[in-house]
Amino acid sequence: TITGMWFRKDLRLVDNTALIALMKERNVNESVMGIFNINPLQLKKGTLNHQAFFAAVEEFSQEAEKAELPIHFIVGEPEKAFETLKKAIPELTKIYFNRDERGYGKKRDEAMLTFFSGYKIQANHFQDSHLHGVTEIKKDNGEAFKVFTPYYNRWKKLRKPLFQKEEFADFGVKGADFRQLFKEEQKYVSELLAEIPTELKGEVGLQRARGYLSRFIDKKVASYEVDRDYPAIKGTSRISRFLRTGELSIREVYHRLNESDEGGNSRDTYLKELCWRDFYNMIYAENPEQQTLEIKEQYRGLHWNQNQGMLIAWKERKTGFPIVDAGMRQLNQTGWMHNRLRMIVASFLTKDLLTDWRLGEAYFSQQLVDYDSASNIGGWQWAASTGTDAVPYFRIFNPTLQGKKFDSDGTFIRFYVPELANVPIAYLHEPQKMPLDIQKQVGCIVGTDYPEPIVDHQKMRSEILSLFKGQ
Ligand code: FAD
Repeated sequence: TITGMWFRKDLRLVDNTALIALMKERNVNESVMGIFNINPLQLKKGTLNHQAFFAAVEEFSQEAEKAELPIHFIVGEPEKAFETLKKAIPELTKIYFNRDERGYGKKRDEAMLTFFSGYKIQANHFQDSHLHGVTEIKKDNGEAFKVFTPYYNRWKKLRKPLFQKEEFADFGVKGADFRQLFKEEQKYVSELLAEIPTELKGEVGLQRARGYLSRFIDKKVASYEVDRDYPAIKGTSRISRFLRTGELSIREVYHRLNESDEGGNSRDTYLKELCWRDFYNMIYAENPEQQTLEIKEQYRGLHWNQNQGMLIAWKERKTGFPIVDAGMRQLNQTGWMHNRLRMIVASFLTKDLLTDWRLGEAYFSQQLVDYDSASNIGGWQWAASTGTDAVPYFRIFNPTLQGKKFDSDGTFIRFYVPELANVPIAYLHEPQKMPLDIQKQVGCIVGTDYPEPIVDHQKMRSEILSLFKGQ
């Protein structure tokens, strides 16, 4: 008989919960087969999100091949693709996978469990992607937490699952290779992978991910608590893209940090960020409609602006607010954006441009190489004050003050907005206040080389406050 290991957002051969369980539970006469399903309906071709993910898939498939676990790509909606697979390989009687606990993935998994049972394929699934699964941390009365701090207080007391150092290769087993039966699919995949820009292919794989993690532990964690707020300092771990694909195990991250002597309080601040990831995962599972509906029901009737002009200015980094424009350029150029900037640009879109947070969320979902629906929707609803922020709607970031505080000498702005490179620091955060003679002197005419602010922050502040108060 044959047992399939269905990989998804767990692109690694080490500390992979389902894979290790499969290897430990299998009988000696059972063959193992690596599977990856590509559902063309799910692809967001041409976006950075899609390209970064498939760059990781390509690398993983090469790594798996080296470890003698060839990956069989099956193409189509999951039921159809597995039906074809089962017809081609009737000996497939068991399947292992790491389940998705929220969003589209959860619905797919539920449907697939029915499918597998109909086809007499025994399915075994595991929680692998998070330190704590969505039902693990509840209030004493059994209800789900709604705000972060009490959730975190419980989270930090709980023992974390172990990092299992075993790799597929340690079991001394060779995976089955039926790829000649799937030539059409191989061709489809080769064409898909050929579209991935080469620059994205460098930022993939376990070794790369471990490099980021080690650098962070050795050099950065001790000052993380302070540095993490300043976009010009590379003070964060930059591992989000690897957690999103599962190239790096969250347990490896947690335990390496926890076992290291580095960091002190700063390390706890970092571990708390990993808790946010679990928290938003749980919140999404509890609020399955949250991609389209405000979590706080009282704000579902808010009349957000659908004005495309404002949205376009924000996307094309032409808002006239230097820190916002710099953040959006970092996103558009690299596919990653510093957390402080994600908060600033999301607050700006919703609270200064009064634009629907769903439009911002959708844009991030295309552009982010670390796109994770739970964290992204959670972050956007937090910024729009419609989600889990414990502070009421009057948390409104002043983009100019944010720039002055978190990029006080303008290093980050000057790097990403070269039009402003020579603007004296006194005007860098408000170029519209620069006298014309200085504008000419530094070669940056406001209104021509760099836009005037597209809104008046104080005026928009009053507008958003009345919008919320009216609810
Ligand atoms: P570090 O500061 O080194 O943190 C380590 C890890 O902790 C991160 O990799 C991430 O997994 C987790 N983490 C940190 N902050 C958060 C947070 N606020 N919420 C959830 N997890 C967190 N993160 C994503 O991974 N994907 C997204 O699509 C995403 N969208 C966001 C949208 C908005 C509007 C906001 C405000 C935040 C969003 N975040 C998202 C959270 C955060 O910005 C990123 O996780 C972080 O910037 C990634 O960089 P890092 O790995 O260097 O983070």
